[in-house]
Amino acid sequence: MADLKWWQKPVRMGRHEWMADLARIKHRDLDELARDKAEQWHINCEWIIGTPGIAPGLGWMTTFNTDRFEKYPALGDFDMLREYIPYARKHRIHPLAYLNMHWYSYEFGEKHPDWLQIMADEQEYGRVNPLYGSGTTLCINSTWRDWAFELVREAMKCGLDGVFLDGPVVYPDCCYCPSCLEKFTASHGQEPPREEDWADPMYKDFIEFREQSMADFLRDAGDAMREINPEGVIFLNAGSWHGGAWRVARDIAKVGPYQNFNGAEAFYHLGRETPTLFWSLAAKHLVAGGKPAIVFVHHCLGAWHYLPLPPIETKVAAAQTVACGSGTWMAVFDYSFDNSPEETIAPMREINRFLEQNEPYLTAAESGANIALLYSGQSGKFYISNIDDLFTDVEMTSEQDLTFKAGSGDSVVDLPARKARCDQWQGDTYRGWFNALTRRHIPFDVMLDAGITDGSLAKYDTLILGNASCLSAAQKQALADFVQSGGNLVAEFEAGEYDERGEASDVNLRSLLGCEAIEGAFEPATTEEYIDLGEAGHPLLAEFHAGQWLARPVNALKAKPSPDARVLAHYMNPTGKVYTKPQGISEWPAAICRESGGRVVYFPGLFGEFYGIYKMETIEELLAAAVYWAHGKPMPMRVSAPPTVEVELWHQPQHNRIVVHLVNNTADMQRPMSTLIPIHDIEIELDYEWATGHSNNSRGHVCRSRKGEGGSGLQPDMLAYSARGLELGIEQTDAGVKLTLPVLELYDLVIVELT
Ligand SMILES: [Zn+2]
Repeated sequence: MADLKWWQKPVRMGRHEWMADLARIKHRDLDELARDKAEQWHINCEWIIGTPGIAPGLGWMTTFNTDRFEKYPALGDFDMLREYIPYARKHRIHPLAYLNMHWYSYEFGEKHPDWLQIMADEQEYGRVNPLYGSGTTLCINSTWRDWAFELVREAMKCGLDGVFLDGPVVYPDCCYCPSCLEKFTASHGQEPPREEDWADPMYKDFIEFREQSMADFLRDAGDAMREINPEGVIFLNAGSWHGGAWRVARDIAKVGPYQNFNGAEAFYHLGRETPTLFWSLAAKHLVAGGKPAIVFVHHCLGAWHYLPLPPIETKVAAAQTVACGSGTWMAVFDYSFDNSPEETIAPMREINRFLEQNEPYLTAAESGANIALLYSGQSGKFYISNIDDLFTDVEMTSEQDLTFKAGSGDSVVDLPARKARCDQWQGDTYRGWFNALTRRHIPFDVMLDAGITDGSLAKYDTLILGNASCLSAAQKQALADFVQSGGNLVAEFEAGEYDERGEASDVNLRSLLGCEAIEGAFEPATTEEYIDLGEAGHPLLAEFHAGQWLARPVNALKAKPSPDARVLAHYMNPTGKVYTKPQGISEWPAAICRESGGRVVYFPGLFGEFYGIYKMETIEELLAAAVYWAHGKPMPMRVSAPPTVEVELWHQPQHNRIVVHLVNNTADMQRPMSTLIPIHDIEIELDYEWATGHSNNSRGHVCRSRKGEGGSGLQPDMLAYSARGLELGIEQTDAGVKLTLPVLELYDLVIVELT
């Protein structure tokens, strides 16, 4: 542990955003400013503005002195980096520079026409889509890259520990500048297609080319940085889990190898539904990249940057982020000519102080989950279903003023529109499964595609594939091997139907999933279609009753089961209309299971996506039941708490310690949250098998033997306490030990020392 680098330990980043009046820093006591960061903000890493991200696009001006670049005039001779860095270090804060790498004024762009990002129709991207109202953006394959690397070097000469690159971004429909055309032609023998054409393999090459260009840029920027400081860190805004990330060439699987942190924005915005687990969704996805992760949280009220985020949102953001294994980052927008206002700093101080005090419990922690949810970036990028029946235009059905609204019923024919729908499905499927598992307190990690073949899969007993439609032959073989050797699988819809580039494939997962053929799809329906559970006699359906109906997912396939598979439930025949008599049970299964080696559950429908959008309790129950049955043994942790309490299981083998994070997301049923409702008497049952099996202390077995003696009620070899200092109830159970946390306000850790 002693050999961990600073950035591999718990990191709390912050950014002091001076907005357009950057020069105010000149008049501040820099020692006091840095001390505030350490003692009030409780951060241990600060982004100092190196090139400003302010109107009208001043990414080409520096805040530090260099004869290679133009200086931000209002700072005069004041070198913001060199003046401030010594004070940051004095207060044990790692200084990084924020370098804006995507927003440039038109004035700057005009001086360098060959650097501009160009769209397929030869227009300049920034002229058609002014950035933040005004300004343009530059291309990573043009010679601007050399300018950018020189900027990185010059900034690093100020004595930084690293740089954060805000951008670059490959914007949608970009880039067709001369440099990109030349680079693409050199590797592919022709210019890239100018249309979004998913039937053209060259278009897919272009999608990969854009992402590879990002990775190349980051790799070379990292090399430039290490010329000045070999120990420096670098990272950029790497994008998150939402469907359609390919449009801006963002994928942590591509850039991850060249950066020290996988970081992405999860900025809170008002006026739209924000998922309860907004920051958790981002954090676990980033953590899946296998390196330190950072979730960026704007400490402001959406797009009202001069107002702070409500205190509960700020604290929940940090709690979810850290509970899921990521580090925090908060930007404070300083709009005052005096000090940053107390209402902005107070919640940050409170949560970051707690994180600082509990650093030992967050350091070198390993997830305790033995279930993984696959986030298939390949499928997010290349999935476009070839089943025509799925692309009927339906909207979410609603009834208002005795009128029904349900879409045109026409078939969506153009491929970009179909792709957009598939992108949406992939994001919503991830969110649906993520929400269901978290709400049911099932411990799970997120895994990227590479994990299927790089050995990561071996850590898990159960893998949830979701609709991982685009997988390579090697990945499909690895999944077959996994099940053959006792691993369990939960899959749905078109999992494994295509190759890793979304092309139809003879190699699929059908026989593994207990499906002989897919013979089309039901017409999508957002109303009145059902699943019949029949006899419901199978243990998977133990929580349901015979003859029970569930809502049918909007998108459902007609899958023919294999002879060796067990059909658990059937789709009912379509009614086609609302308020219509049911039409009986169809021949098509809604759920299939199979046991051969491990256990496999297959849903021939977009159940995860359906749950992600409609949030029906019975569908959540069905998803959880599938995971429980497939897993086939007790979860390492069982929790009795409302679904809004998020519980994450970690352990620290070096310390023989289990750390359970509890985040209370129970609030006032609208956002932004203003009132948090404390939860009492949360029970956490830890499995002995798991706890002692993961212990590297040979005395771990003592716990197990003492369990046999029983009777005392307390486990003498186990010390359990809460990070908030609450006294826990401890009770031995048949399977392990049950801990009771008397009350959870917003965030707490339950720590179990196996002595
Ligand atoms: Zn270009």
